[in-house]
Amino acid sequence: MSPEEKHQFKRLEQMAAKLRAQGFRITPQRLAILKLLAGSEEHPTADNLFKRVQKDFPTTSLATVYKTLHVLKEVGEVIELGFSDASSRYDGHKPFPHPHVICTECGEILDPSPEKTCQLANHMAEQTGYDITHHRMDFFGVCPRCQTK
Ligand code: ZN
Ligand code: MN
Repeated sequence: MSPEEKHQFKRLEQMAAKLRAQGFRITPQRLAILKLLAGSEEHPTADNLFKRVQKDFPTTSLATVYKTLHVLKEVGEVIELGFSDASSRYDGHKPFPHPHVICTECGEILDPSPEKTCQLANHMAEQTGYDITHHRMDFFGVCPRCQTK
């Protein structure tokens, strides 16, 4: 197994364990949602997850997808990136706070390496006396592909 495959497998296990602990049965549909979340680095929308799960499980409802995402978010296994002008995007691949780079043209969202993010959080804590628990850092711009359009 490659390190990435190991990571995805571990993420899948962690999400499934948390859902079970909340009293949810891991149905084949739910397992499919978890697999997509664990393996997606592109920050899918709920609708995108729904469409992909529906291919294999036509009886899946959008409500099941939302419910699963909601519970995973509550237990800290998924990050929701909400936007005022677009649907939320979800990250179950990296469930901890990290910076995002977002294309305002095509909506691509990348996870650049979060170097110095901790330093910045510590700096904010020192300056304000806050106990910083999490953060959200979005960098908006135009991706290389959209720049050539
Ligand atoms: Zn773009
Ligand atoms: Mn991310």
